[in-house]
This record gives sequence, structure tokens and C-alpha cells, in this order.
Amino acid sequence: MKKNFRVFATCDIGEAIDLLRSRGYEVEVYPRPEAPAKSVILEKVKSGIDGLITTLRDSIDAEVFKAGKGKLRVVAQFAVGFDNINRADANHYKVPFTHTADVLTEATAEFAFFLMGAVARKMWSAEHLTRENQWGYWHPYLPFLGDEVTGKNVAVIGTGRIGLALIKKCVGFDMNVLCYDPAYQNHAFVKSIQEVHELRHARGLVKEKAWIEYVAFEEALRHADFVSVHVPLLREGESTTPTYHLFNERTLRLMKSTAYLVNTSRGPVVDEAALALALRENWIAGAALDVYEKEPLPADSPLRDPAIADRCRLLPHFASAARITRLSTDPEKGMAGRCVQGLIDVLEGNYGGDPAKMPYVVNKEAFTK
Ligand code: NAD
Repeated sequence: MKKNFRVFATCDIGEAIDLLRSRGYEVEVYPRPEAPAKSVILEKVKSGIDGLITTLRDSIDAEVFKAGKGKLRVVAQFAVGFDNINRADANHYKVPFTHTADVLTEATAEFAFFLMGAVARKMWSAEHLTRENQWGYWHPYLPFLGDEVTGKNVAVIGTGRIGLALIKKCVGFDMNVLCYDPAYQNHAFVKSIQEVHELRHARGLVKEKAWIEYVAFEEALRHADFVSVHVPLLREGESTTPTYHLFNERTLRLMKSTAYLVNTSRGPVVDEAALALALRENWIAGAALDVYEKEPLPADSPLRDPAIADRCRLLPHFASAARITRLSTDPEKGMAGRCVQGLIDVLEGNYGGDPAKMPYVVNKEAFTK
């Protein structure tokens, strides 16, 4: 079996690159921290590489697959989610692409949980007060108060891997859970969570028994104190229930004026102009975002308005940015490990050489006989 495969990585993914090199692969890593221009990717693909390692910053479409026709055998994406890869184009050129689902589930879910606390308990404003030497006294309610997370209602929009992981964390805070997912409803999971709620109540650990149920989208928004979003980005035509601008002027107005929105999914799921208006006009109490319609967040984004800074937390697409999650070379623990394993599976013909059987390949449909 040939092992001197040629691979181009659009960014450095740490020791996992050495792992490929130790197997005899020739790996070129784009040396700069920002994404390469599309022309660089096209040039590398045209040069006859066997594998391409990408991130969500790289637009991988027909142009790329055409440039690699007959040579490019796999695109290995360092992320869960692949809205930057045109699936129809990959299928047309019969190139399998992989992603790193699961290994970032817990890191992303805990980050979403922390964001609920950060925005509602005003951690950022409170630290600024201390740092800027504005902390003049202890007072029952001045200069401001936050809102508790414990015992509140959380709406989890999208109950896939990360949504369910978030729910497990919310149980420890005795939160009531409103689940919404039009495509995948895990009733066995909901039953288990309900049993945990019941046990905590029966053993006297909590005074009030918390609850969990699947509800309609509008109902989830109307009753939630926190709304946490865990959907893939699906544009019009990609799904019967697209998620592009799922949060817009109409749906933001359905939320309680005391509620907080947390988005760690994909930026275009939230209409940012509508959200900025919602915060300025106090339709909702606050928002914490990790992802944006355009990344990095433009200097003139309405979300940067100083008038809403105390209610709007802005993080730099950071939810999976934890050491082990990002860089472990163990495919069971790290995105880097899972990314290169997906690449190896395809190039070295694991699973009988059938991409439809390979665990990290996304577009299995292109290879199902
Ligand atoms: P997943 O595929 O396991 O879950 C997504 C769920 O959303 C599915 O159950 C699906 O049925 C549901 N869904 C689809 N359309 C919906 C709609 N219109 N309304 C409500 N639910 C809908 O994916 P996951 O692993 O849980 O990841 C979710 C998303 O989080 C990823 O697609 C990615 O975009 C994002 N993500 C972001 C970061 C980050 O660093 N901020 C990290 C990891 C994942």
C-alpha cells in the first residue's frame, strides 16, 4: 500500500501532522494563522495532492473538486459542521469528506452553559467595574443585578449531540428543559433526564421537581428564560426546516423580555441586525454569541454598539477551543486526531476501502451501492 501520500493542510493542527509524517506522508501546512486564499487551495489541489485538511474558513466547492479531479481523494474537515463544503459538489466528483463530530460535543456544550451564566450574571460588566476601579461600595442592588440560572427554563433548539450534552449540564442546575427539534426527537433521553429529576426530588436534593419536554418552536421561545441554539446551518433549499435566520425579528419578539439568547451554533442562524435591535429596544434581556454572520466580526457590526455592551457577550468562535478537544491526537478525544484518522481511513483504504462504512465520512450517500 502506497504511504507517501501528499496532503495539504490549510492550517496547522499540531502534533497530528507529525503523526501523518511518521506514516510516510508528505504534508505541507499553510504557514500563516489566517485562512489561505482560495487560489492557494486551488493551486495545491491542482498540483495533485491526495488529501486536503480544511477548516470552516475554507470554501470547498465544485471549483476545488474540479481542480482535483482524478487526484484529490479526500477532504478532512477539522470541525463538526461542514456548511463550508458543498456536499452536492463533493458527491458529483465522488470525493468523500470527513468531519470531527462528537469529540467537541462536551467542550461546546459546557461553553454554551458558561455563556448563560456569563451574560445573565453580568460577569463582564462586574469585572470591568473592579478593574476600572469603579467598585466604590457593596450595595443591595447598585450598580446593577444579574439573573440566576438555577431553576430557570432553558429552551434547547436542536437536540443533536451538543443540545443533549447541554441538557445534561442543565440538570445539575435544576433547570426545566423545553426541547425543540423538527427532525430528531430523543424521547428515551428525555425519559432518562426526567428520571434523574425525579430521583433528585425524591431524595430531597431539590425542593421543586424540574421537568423536561419536547414542545413546538414558538412555545419553547415563549416560555424560556434562556434559549440555547444547537442547530446546523441549513440554508433555504437544503432542508424542509432551514435554520438560516431562524432567529429574526418575528421569532426574537416571541421571547420573554427577561430572556437571554445564547448562540454557539453558526452565525447566520441569527439575523444580527434584528438581534441588535432587540437588545437596543429591550425585547430580550441579553445575548451571548460565539459565532457570527461574518467572521471575524466586522468593525462596524451593530453588535458592537456600546449601548448594548452590558447585555451582549461576544466571543471569537471559541466554544471548542479547549486544549484536549482541539489538539489531542487521540481520535476519541481530539479534533486533530479525528481529522487525521478520517483522512487515513480514506487514503489507506480502511473499512475495505468503502467510504460508506467509514465512521467519520459525512457524504456516505455518494458511495452507497
Ligand atoms: P447534530 O447534527 O448532532 O445536531 C443538530 C440538531 O439540529 C439535529 O438533531 C437536527 O435535527 C437539528 N435541527 C436541524 N434543523 C433544525 C431546525 N430547523 N430547528 C431545530 N433543530 C434543527 O450537530 P451537533 O454536533 O450537535 O452540532 C450542532 C452545530 O453546532 C454544528 O452543526 C456546528 O455548526 C455547531 N458547532 C459550533 C461550535 C463552535 O465552536 N461554536 C462547535 C461545535 C459545533
